[in-house]
Amino acid sequence: MYIDTHCHLNFPDFETDREDVLEGALKEGVVAIINPGSSVEKSKSAVALSEKYPSVYSAVGIHPLDVKDVSISDISEIVKLAKNKKVVAIGETGLDFYYGKETGEKQREFFVAHIEIAGELGLPLIIHQRNSRDEVIDICERYKLPQKVVFHCFGGDMAMADY
Ligand SMILES: [Zn+2]
Ligand SMILES: [Zn+2]
Repeated sequence: MYIDTHCHLNFPDFETDREDVLEGALKEGVVAIINPGSSVEKSKSAVALSEKYPSVYSAVGIHPLDVKDVSISDISEIVKLAKNKKVVAIGETGLDFYYGKETGEKQREFFVAHIEIAGELGLPLIIHQRNSRDEVIDICERYKLPQKVVFHCFGGDMAMADY
């Protein structure tokens, strides 16, 4: 029995074979699939997909590399979507300084906002972390993380994993 905690089946790339991919996964023993959101629009499509299929769940959030296109007030859309009963986590969020160093400040602002939403709603947090080990630890120390956190893009080492 498997749970895929990180899929993007709501992406347009799956427009032609989404049902097949889903069916194939279920047939191989995957009992649940979680699609994290990466923007307001993609969080909406992730929620819509989870409403359509019983074994599909969603997370809502704005990906660190997508923050350049939005303003912090758009986070209210994420809060609204997070109240859907098929939403099981907040994310993906985090810091990506591999591709997005120039939006670092904005990424931090959004990361903190996601931490706060997860705390308020009592939902786990999905963290995307690439080339940003020290900065992510710094934020994790300064803000109260929810009880459950999943690192999915993990560019850290053993010390950070223990942490
Ligand atoms: Zn992802
Ligand atoms: Zn990611």
